[in-house]
Amino acid sequence: MNRDNEFFSLAAQLVDAGRIIDGKGWVPATSGNFSARLNDGNIAITVSGKHKGLLQTSDIMLIDADGNSLDGKKPSAETMLHTALYKRFSDVRCILHPHSLNATLISKLFPAGCVLENYELLKAFNGIDTHESRVVIPVFANDQNIPRLAAKVDRYLDQHGAIYGYVIEGHGLYTWGNSVQETMRHLEALDYLFDCEIRLHGVKKI
Ligand SMILES: [Zn+2]
Repeated sequence: MNRDNEFFSLAAQLVDAGRIIDGKGWVPATSGNFSARLNDGNIAITVSGKHKGLLQTSDIMLIDADGNSLDGKKPSAETMLHTALYKRFSDVRCILHPHSLNATLISKLFPAGCVLENYELLKAFNGIDTHESRVVIPVFANDQNIPRLAAKVDRYLDQHGAIYGYVIEGHGLYTWGNSVQETMRHLEALDYLFDCEIRLHGVKKI
């Protein structure tokens, strides 16, 4: 597949993902951003400020591995959080960042991080084949200074290695995988598991 075809294929997958994610109410008011990495290392990513349930392929732009625009369009302010993950993990091909209610509530309930264990749905995560598993989703304080926030995430990953996602407090979730499809699976599993933890702790889901 040449680069243009690869880009449009990934852009179409991100548009579809946006429609599904918006259908679940996880990207209110133009929030969130999504990306996918091409074979040549460049990245297809949502432009700034578009509603993620109404995306068209023209709302997906191309950046290089350092986050520089390759087509003159303006990327999201949080682009560096995407490029840092792609640089660290060579097998990551997609990153989804919704501002879901459950991720936001989880960050308030568990500001030191959320532990997920003994759930059958943990098997939705790449590499996990039993409910007898323990997944920790760290929570980082929100910060409008994205390079500073990216550095904080980097320090955590230096110490803890590969994880399935992280939450920014009062903000939303970052999760990733080796394809758009796998990342959607991780996202749906995390939201379900967050919902379980929230209900267990007595916060009524709206
Ligand atoms: Zn965000």
